[in-house]
Amino acid sequence: MRTVDVSEISQAVRRMYLEMNVAVLPDVRGAVEKALADEASPAARYALSQIRDNYDVSARTGLPLCQDTGMAVLFITAGQDVHFAGGDLYQAVQQGVRDAYRDGYFRKSIVSEPLFDRKNTGDNCPAVIHLSLCPGEKVHILAMAKGFGSENMSRVFMLAPAAGEEGVLNAIVSAVRDAGPNPCPPVIVGVGIGGNFETAPLLAKKATARPLGVHHRDERYAALEKKALDRINALGIGASGIGGLTTALWVSAEYAPTHIAGMPVAVCICCHASRHGEVTL
Ligand code: SF4
Repeated sequence: MRTVDVSEISQAVRRMYLEMNVAVLPDVRGAVEKALADEASPAARYALSQIRDNYDVSARTGLPLCQDTGMAVLFITAGQDVHFAGGDLYQAVQQGVRDAYRDGYFRKSIVSEPLFDRKNTGDNCPAVIHLSLCPGEKVHILAMAKGFGSENMSRVFMLAPAAGEEGVLNAIVSAVRDAGPNPCPPVIVGVGIGGNFETAPLLAKKATARPLGVHHRDERYAALEKKALDRINALGIGASGIGGLTTALWVSAEYAPTHIAGMPVAVCICCHASRHGEVTL
């Protein structure tokens, strides 16, 4: 049994959010630069160069990549031989988020109740925490800052198994088409296939954190990712929605076992300010 003090968790979470909100991920930057090199339309080239320049401004000044510094979402996988000491694990995670958003002067975007008062909590908490167990003595944290321009455009489709591959592709492409310019394209598309009504979106969200350029290990799903990306980019929405060759930088799909009677498909759309970090303690 290994003991992990929850203050370590707070510090790791704080560090990740301070970094991810101001430093573009190298793979995302590389994909935007490739899109710029490939693009012919002057308007789309201008939009892409503005996005690239914005990354540079953040690197130079330490200012956030976007005014929407997101809702904090964390996937924590804890070894079952870990004993958390020194306090409440959930509260420690919230404290790390709270500290990062205060110290980074990031926008606090969370309201305590969604329908009537919509009063800002003032500290960007609570974060959304997904906790799962695995064998061993390590703790892995995948942390995301999810902007809501793109979150609002994400979708769940409860397809029949007979919908097949074509049905899945139609669902993915229709979600991006309906989103139009709203999710700040070029986007990164995470797809979750299988599971059920609540787990397909978790697969899709985690898929957005897979490094761009890395396809699914199963070649059937890798081929699906390529077809989806081609069809999305044929829509012509383009960077900032003003037309162009690159509407999406990448599509990543994940699957899980499901019921014989269904085929849930979740499409999680992430913007060009995709922000996430990982740490293993
Ligand atoms: S969708 Fe992304 S780039 Fe657009 S406003 Fe939200 S966080 Fe910023």
